[in-house]
Amino acid sequence: MPCNNYRSSLLVTAILWQVSLSASGAYVTILNNGPSSNRIDMVFLGDGYTESQIDTVYADHVQSTIDNFFGGTEDPFPRYQNFFNVYRVDVISNESGADRPPDGIMRDTALDASYYYNSGPQELLFINKYKADAKLLESGLLDPQFSIEMRLVTVNDTLYGGGGSSSYAAFAGGSVSSWQIALHELGHSFAGLVDEYVVGSQTYTSYEPQAANVTTSSTGEKWSQWLGYTDPDHPEMGVIGAYEGAMVDYSHGVYRPSTSSKMRSVNRPFDAVGREEIILDIYSHVDPLDAALDNSTTLVDPTSLWVDTIDADVIQVQWFVDDELVTHATDEIFHPFNLSPGEHEIKARAYDDTPWVRRDLEQLEQWVTWNIDVNTVLEPFHGDANLDGIVDDEDAVILAANWQNDNADWFQGDFDGDGVVTDIDVTLLAVNWQRDITSMVSVPEPGMLVLLFAAWLIAVQRSRGRNRECL
Ligand SMILES: [Zn+2]
Repeated sequence: MPCNNYRSSLLVTAILWQVSLSASGAYVTILNNGPSSNRIDMVFLGDGYTESQIDTVYADHVQSTIDNFFGGTEDPFPRYQNFFNVYRVDVISNESGADRPPDGIMRDTALDASYYYNSGPQELLFINKYKADAKLLESGLLDPQFSIEMRLVTVNDTLYGGGGSSSYAAFAGGSVSSWQIALHELGHSFAGLVDEYVVGSQTYTSYEPQAANVTTSSTGEKWSQWLGYTDPDHPEMGVIGAYEGAMVDYSHGVYRPSTSSKMRSVNRPFDAVGREEIILDIYSHVDPLDAALDNSTTLVDPTSLWVDTIDADVIQVQWFVDDELVTHATDEIFHPFNLSPGEHEIKARAYDDTPWVRRDLEQLEQWVTWNIDVNTVLEPFHGDANLDGIVDDEDAVILAANWQNDNADWFQGDFDGDGVVTDIDVTLLAVNWQRDITSMVSVPEPGMLVLLFAAWLIAVQRSRGRNRECL
């Protein structure tokens, strides 16, 4: 069942509302994944919830919406969960529900939620934007330390309906399709997508629409990067092409990317084109890195450089020394081992390698460049096979896995450089056991034999464990 669009022709009378500022910041933080400046801040308001329903019905509606956004299969949201902060503003209404004017049902609610909004169809459910703005202002979430990118209003009614403007996505919080309606409306309010369903029979003859998900070209050239694509996770979405009919009124002259996506039927996923647009819009507000080591001055003999990604499962890191990729270095920390004396340029590239974006890929990456001056060559401790700066069980496992390999290099546990992994290499590893290049921790000599034993034991155990798995 298609959901009606909140059309641009909608006229809303501007009313100046008397606003009382609250110093307390009347909002509830539901998810805090990082600094507001580098997160998508999503805020929920509610309408038609009485005082006694705030902590029960309202809190449940908000929580189940979030759970379905991030815990389900509604791509791309689960993958980007850590890119979001979520807040809730508790708006109290005198009565439950929403207006249904033609049915004579009128409710006294804080944000004036109404079906048949602005004399539209029954399922067009929207609120008074100015009253919502005032509640947001009161809450403290419009204070300078926040940057609210997504605004949702859950309306305490069970009748199917929703509406999305450029600022708010409203949805019937009591509907069985509530969270799916909410996502469709976010498609409008956050990603600028337009409806792909059709109830009219007009022919579109105007200019090329700005929205990413419709085009006047019958070849679908606008999303040429996806033509012919079938989503392996959602084969039911069919093949991306150019399907005639979209934007509610037009059965001809305008084309959509798939037979049916979230912007056509709320119970469907977003198609590849809509999903890509949402991700690109996320990255228009968020960078892959939350922080990085200061690069404003030349660093002299640094033992490590670092970046801090939003989510290490989503953001990959590569390191370059003098524009050459260091193939083994994929961590957030990098140790400039074995560089010749003199000046070097080190770069970190942080990027999202999602297969869901095929254009404007530069939006998904971030580079940091440092200039370093090497006076004393930084050498890795013997035993640090993976060059992560610490000699630990990861290195012991590598060594054990390559035991007696006679064509080995450093990365396989040959620390003395004789080409074979032998007990000499085990000893070298044990001598440096748990030494850490960043703190230069050294192990006291008397403990050596104990540590040798420990390292060897770990190595053998891991080796046996691995063999068992291979059976
Ligand atoms: Zn819509």
